[in-house]
Amino acid sequence: MTLSENLLLRLENPDLFAAIADAPRLPLSSGGKTFSVFNPATGELLAELPDMGVAETQVAIERAAAAQVEWAAMTARERSDTLWRWHQLIVRHTDDLAIILTAEMGKPLAEAKSEVSHAAAYLQWYAEEANRIYGETIAAPSRDRRMIVIKQPIGVVGAITPWNFPASMVARKISPALAAGCTVVLKPAEQTPLVAGAMFLLAERAGFPQGVVNLIYASEGDAVGRELCTNATVRKISFTGSTEVGRLLMRQCSDQVKKLSLELGGNAPFIVFDDADIDAAVDGAIQAKFRNAGQTCVSANRLYVQSGVHDEFAAKFTERVKTLRVGDGFDGDVAIGPLIDTHALSKISGHVSDAVERGGRILCGGHRLEGSGTFYAPTVLVGIGRDMRIAREETFGPLAPIIRFDDSDAVVREANDTIYGLAAYFYASNLSRVWRVAEALEYGMVGINTGRMSSEAAPFGGVKQSGMGREGSRHGLEDYLEMKYLCMGGI
Ligand code: NAP
Repeated sequence: MTLSENLLLRLENPDLFAAIADAPRLPLSSGGKTFSVFNPATGELLAELPDMGVAETQVAIERAAAAQVEWAAMTARERSDTLWRWHQLIVRHTDDLAIILTAEMGKPLAEAKSEVSHAAAYLQWYAEEANRIYGETIAAPSRDRRMIVIKQPIGVVGAITPWNFPASMVARKISPALAAGCTVVLKPAEQTPLVAGAMFLLAERAGFPQGVVNLIYASEGDAVGRELCTNATVRKISFTGSTEVGRLLMRQCSDQVKKLSLELGGNAPFIVFDDADIDAAVDGAIQAKFRNAGQTCVSANRLYVQSGVHDEFAAKFTERVKTLRVGDGFDGDVAIGPLIDTHALSKISGHVSDAVERGGRILCGGHRLEGSGTFYAPTVLVGIGRDMRIAREETFGPLAPIIRFDDSDAVVREANDTIYGLAAYFYASNLSRVWRVAEALEYGMVGINTGRMSSEAAPFGGVKQSGMGREGSRHGLEDYLEMKYLCMGGI
């Protein structure tokens, strides 16, 4: 089992990455069961991977548990050095990792490179942060006592990642866990396991002791997920994906009161007020809406534009959208790749036809593009009503619905009227408005006069049904640490 000839030919180091199928280093699935990975732009078969199940997951969990004590006992500096070596290997192999990522996921190569750099930045950040785990001493209320708080790693972590950022999500989960002294069993999405496999091959070269990082390839995520949630050796689940699956994992973890970090779905509002810089707002909306073909959890899903600037914004924005070239991510000037699969195509088509039936008007796009890949034309819709599916559901595709509004307070209420609370954006210049709106939006992250805010230095995460916990920044490390209170008496 290996990568396809075509993909190997694109790589600088085909010999290194040809071993992706063996990256888990676990007993292969019984009966030699495999699953296929395809390029969504061309339909080309990229790889056949061993299809692992509950038995392999149990082996991986046992290995992670066996390695945990030694890994946690290492000094922070030793853990930091290993993470640092992994970071450097990822930087060195950025081009190959990006090629693998584009092949399996479809995003333009430049975006894939930027994602790999972002993944490397998390490893660097947590290599540094590993050295900054602090406890505290507390002034005791009685003379014969001393009170201290220490921080310890939670233990074995089960991590499950989605297909839309298959490299950076792996780094964002694993690096704080490892920095804290946890060991990890990770299952990437079925559609995009290859770049995770490539990163694990580099982790091996970086010198992590055996069992510290473990990879499960699986086509049946539910069986592996259930094992991770219900196996008592796993002390924490870290999941990024849909709210629906997040709820299910939460239920499965409840019997053991297992700790959870959940990065779930969003329905981001993007609000342009009358006093905004319209050209800057158009730039920001293009980034927030069309990066990764709109397949990001922080994608602008509803564009609210105040009446005074609505027509100008809609015209300028539509002109820009028309220039976005759609195609194979390996073609030089492509801005938008394919959607991940035909389900994604059906969802966006359903949102467009529902909107048009209820009176929405298409300014550009609104249809699937010819060819074998899962391409959809970048689309702008106006005349959007609150009853339409696009006003309520996450589209996860290159569709921008523009909703006209008049009242500034009402638009914030409407933006908050959702079960989600991940990211929100707004453009305005009046300082008093900027503060009021920023504070009133019920979201974990708010972009003010910017369409892009993700960074390893910032706490990424949502409120309401967009999840719990934070990834990135010093707060991301805390999510993998337990607090232990030591009370010494008889002094
Ligand atoms: P998904 O269907 O929830 O899948 C995510 C991961 O969960 C995949 O690895 C998948 O494996 C696995 N999975 C699916 N069903 C499972 C089950 N019953 N038990 C255990 N694991 C299971 O989500 P998606 O469609 O890949 O990703 C898109 C969603 O993720 C969107 O809602 C987006 O907003 C959200 N997202 C959130 C963030 C964030 O940081 N908040 C970031 C990125 C994406 P298989 O591939 O094998 O099904």
